[in-house]
Amino acid sequence: MRIAIPKETHPGENRVPITPDHAKKLCRLGAAVVIESGMGVGSGFSDAEYTDAGATVSADRDELFKSADLLLRVRKPEPAEIALMKRGCIHISYLDPFNERELVESLRDAGITSISMEMIPRTTRSQKMDALSSQANLAGYVMVMLAATHLPRIFPMMMTPAGTLKPANVFVIGAGVAGLQAIATAKRLGAKVTAFDTRPVVAEQVQSLGGKFLEIDLGETGETAGGYAKELTPEQVEMQRQAQKEVIAKSDVVITTAQVFGRKPPVLVTKDMIEGMAPGSVIVDMAAETGGNVEGSVPNEVVEWSGVTIIGKGNLAGEVARDASQMYSSNLFNLVEDNWHEEQKLFAVDFEDDILAGCVITHGGEVVNETIKNIMEGGA
Ligand code: NAD
Repeated sequence: MRIAIPKETHPGENRVPITPDHAKKLCRLGAAVVIESGMGVGSGFSDAEYTDAGATVSADRDELFKSADLLLRVRKPEPAEIALMKRGCIHISYLDPFNERELVESLRDAGITSISMEMIPRTTRSQKMDALSSQANLAGYVMVMLAATHLPRIFPMMMTPAGTLKPANVFVIGAGVAGLQAIATAKRLGAKVTAFDTRPVVAEQVQSLGGKFLEIDLGETGETAGGYAKELTPEQVEMQRQAQKEVIAKSDVVITTAQVFGRKPPVLVTKDMIEGMAPGSVIVDMAAETGGNVEGSVPNEVVEWSGVTIIGKGNLAGEVARDASQMYSSNLFNLVEDNWHEEQKLFAVDFEDDILAGCVITHGGEVVNETIKNIMEGGA
């Protein structure tokens, strides 16, 4: 099986899908691995490291797409790239299939087997392939770093002959994978951290990291069987906003990571709350690119409202591209290895496998993923 890894072309995307270490492991499985020349530069990997690993380096990008049996990537494919791929080719990347209807239709019509990294089920067996978690974990760290560099204060308490500096107050809204890492990172830097999440089970996790959990009684919130938050009613969102208002006003940093899988993120920090914060305070909105948890946040920009800095940077994990590549590459390799047919030396698509049943979107000219099919047919 010919595994091709083209260079990522999205502006500012420095992550690579496969590191030289994992290229070597793919070769050991019996695959012919070909990478596009210069593919690893943004993450600090040279072509020579890939050739040493046993991969071939090619400068012919079109040929890479035409000859691939399996494409491993970070970002979704462009229409022109889909046109080059063979029918039956397997394409693994982020796809955002909930919002990318046309893309899913073109992959279907081109007979591509497309696998969406976002749709890997969050089960114990699939943890090693879970790119949402690996990248969210790093995003949590990066958000705190961004906040710290924009805040005109330090995070820890400091007692010096020149006076005592109080620790910064950090409020984290949404304590999933990214939020918990943000809490841990802010605590390590010495901040006082408070957090809120609609899933009550999270309270203990926040406390175990040394954070304070803000208790808000929103009535029935619960979580889905997959462990995701359920969408709040408009009344519950309003209750949450009111209950958070005071904490936000006292915070030097607010980090928002609240997401509801497959839906638009809720707006939880409104302009009147921002106006209540001290000038110089910082808000980092992880959801800025997908609609925003914070009123007025702008995707990929740093803006100011009433003296408060609002950071809407996307691709947060990409800020630490080397480590993000390391983890993403590991997720991809584990997915390939788990589905590798040892005798035939190929990626075997078996729908009896619960992980593939969850993450394969198109196959054999059909949309095979039940959730995405329902959405496309106008269902849930
Ligand atoms: P996510 O990115 O979907 O959401 C981030 C957080 O926002 C979640 O904790 C969610 O509860 C919270 N949220 C939603 N609405 C909110 C609101 N109005 N206010 C405050 N917070 C709100 O979540 P995630 O980080 O991807 O993790 C989701 C779940 O999946 C967690 O339970 C996590 O433990 C679980 N998980 C399981 C596995 C596994 O078992 N393999 C792996 C990763 C994550």
